[in-house]
Amino acid sequence: MEEILKKTGLKVTPARILILETFSGKCEPLSAEDISKKLKKKDIDLVTIYRTLASFEEAGILRKVDLHKESQYYELGEHHHHHIICNKCGFVEELEGCDIEKLASKLVSKSSNFKTIKDHSLEFFGVCKKCS
Ligand SMILES: [Zn+2]
Ligand SMILES: [Zn+2]
Ligand SMILES: [Zn+2]
Repeated sequence: MEEILKKTGLKVTPARILILETFSGKCEPLSAEDISKKLKKKDIDLVTIYRTLASFEEAGILRKVDLHKESQYYELGEHHHHHIICNKCGFVEELEGCDIEKLASKLVSKSSNFKTIKDHSLEFFGVCKKCS
């Protein structure tokens, strides 16, 4: 975790390491509130978490995931994938593999203002088996 911070040139602080560590291991997107709950005993206030998440996103460590929820969700940016989210209970599943690139180049060929697409984010919404 320290290595990741050093690579991006961000100052290594105990709070930053703790916040980054909450993302390691699994990949379920987390909101500032989720992190606050996980770090309850560590005495890191929500404002610090918000600020840290924003600087991590700027540094490319985290990316935003739009789950159509009130809070902003983040996850580690290294592993490209998409999600499917249950509209009823909010359950999030990772979708492996991505075929969007082909579609993206087709779309951009119709654009008069863009020549290339460098990145994309796309999440799917539905109803999980438990809820349906
Ligand atoms: Zn994910
Ligand atoms: Zn559900
Ligand atoms: Zn993709």
